[in-house]
Amino acid sequence: MTRTAPIPTASHFIDGSYAEDASGTPIPVIHPASGAVFANVHAATPALIDRALEAARRAQGDWAALTGAERGRVLRRAAEILRERNRDLSVIETWDTGKPLQETLVADAASGADALEFFGGIAADLGGETRQLGQDWSYTRREPLGVCVGIGAWNYPIQIACWKAAPALACGNAMVFKPSETTPLSALKLAEILLEAGAPPGLFNVLQGAGEVGAALVTDPRVAKVSLTGSVPTGRKVYAAAAAGIKSVTMELGGKSPLIIFDDAEVENAVSAAINGNFYSSGQVCSNGTRVFVQRGIKEAFLSLLAKRLTGAVLGDPLDEATNFGPMVSEGQLNIVLAYIARGHEEGARLIAGGNRVVGPGYFLEPTLFADVTDEMAIAREEIFGPVMSVLDFDTEDEVLARANATEFGLAAGVFTRDLARAHRMVARLQAGTCWINTYNLTPVEMPFGGSKLSGVGRENARAAIEHYSQVKAVYVAMGDVDAPF
Ligand code: NDP
Repeated sequence: MTRTAPIPTASHFIDGSYAEDASGTPIPVIHPASGAVFANVHAATPALIDRALEAARRAQGDWAALTGAERGRVLRRAAEILRERNRDLSVIETWDTGKPLQETLVADAASGADALEFFGGIAADLGGETRQLGQDWSYTRREPLGVCVGIGAWNYPIQIACWKAAPALACGNAMVFKPSETTPLSALKLAEILLEAGAPPGLFNVLQGAGEVGAALVTDPRVAKVSLTGSVPTGRKVYAAAAAGIKSVTMELGGKSPLIIFDDAEVENAVSAAINGNFYSSGQVCSNGTRVFVQRGIKEAFLSLLAKRLTGAVLGDPLDEATNFGPMVSEGQLNIVLAYIARGHEEGARLIAGGNRVVGPGYFLEPTLFADVTDEMAIAREEIFGPVMSVLDFDTEDEVLARANATEFGLAAGVFTRDLARAHRMVARLQAGTCWINTYNLTPVEMPFGGSKLSGVGRENARAAIEHYSQVKAVYVAMGDVDAPF
């Protein structure tokens, strides 16, 4: 078992090598399971930001001039290296995020590798269309946007970096990526791997820093596109800043998604899905189904089974593969979640399980279950981003649909029922970018992922992502003489 983190050798990765400038604001990197600082990085200075953007600009032209097949080969090789080094990358991710190694071994670098493989696979097949226009004709070229900026959240650091880099690079763009200052390390490893796989220096650069580094990148005129994964308030700021430069954006933002369980559902599976959709990664997942609507007929059966299953949570050292429930990513996030639990009590929700910080080092919180939650309670309206499940009762299909949609968010939704006609009827009317029927939170690369309403703009994964990392140029080709009025 690895007890030391394989720490990258410097803060930034620019133009094919590690870079450091100790005059940047220091950022201590904290292991959430102990609260101890295990690494230090520095925020990027303006000079480093300029170097990274310049390197990306230079690299992009040559990269775009390669064939799609050549670009795809590099991405697929990077996917192989990610898989070969999955354990080391998972250990870094566990040190940085506190997520159990049991999870990071299967969900983080592995999912990043899936994206590199998928977009590496389709890079050779990205093209335009031709149309016959009488004797003339037109065709379209699918062209890159230029230099893209990726800005990540702290819950899935390497996955987010790969989900943005893979389609961006497949389309012939370059990228400057800024991870969350809370989890700065694994994106540096991705930069190393892409270089090793054959990406030219400067094609994928990593800069550390907090919001101001992100803001400097978003407003730079050399940047054509910004892809953010983060909260709605940050999304508003970044979207507005990008709009000033008429830049293309992808916004993967927060959610407060409904998981609707009808009384004909297979209860064991519904309970499993509610656990996955609320407690995986200690509840720090944007698409979580945190409003669990349970039809009154199975409410008590659902709650008692769920309470029993929660006793199976194994809290502890996340580097121990027997642990299946880790700490909150930071003390700040722990306090946010504790404040929501206090509001749940104040507003009259019934606590069934958990609700407490775990005494001892680190930012551990018990998996928490509230029942009798009503629509107006803060825990039912606001994104908590922690292990707090709210169970709400409902009676009819129309009622639950209206209540499920009565939110400003629209990231995801789930429906459990054995009546498949009802399941499809429901998903057609649910306002969400991703819906699951009889499961929850599966996000394979073949399926587009993204939000509606305040949850975002654009889609990641699948062919849909290509639309957001490329632009279409239309070309009219005349085969005859030119008509003119005089
Ligand atoms: P934040 O919105 O706080 O931060 C996201 C990123 O934006 C960070 O790298 C942050 O830097 C950076 N940032 C902050 N301010 C600015 C700015 N003005 N200009 C440019 N960049 C800026 O989100 P969290 O990191 O706290 O992540 C949690 C949120 O992310 C939740 O709301 C969650 O729902 C959402 N999320 C959405 C997903 C999706 O796919 N839809 C997936 C995962 C999470 P720094 O933090 O270093 O200051």
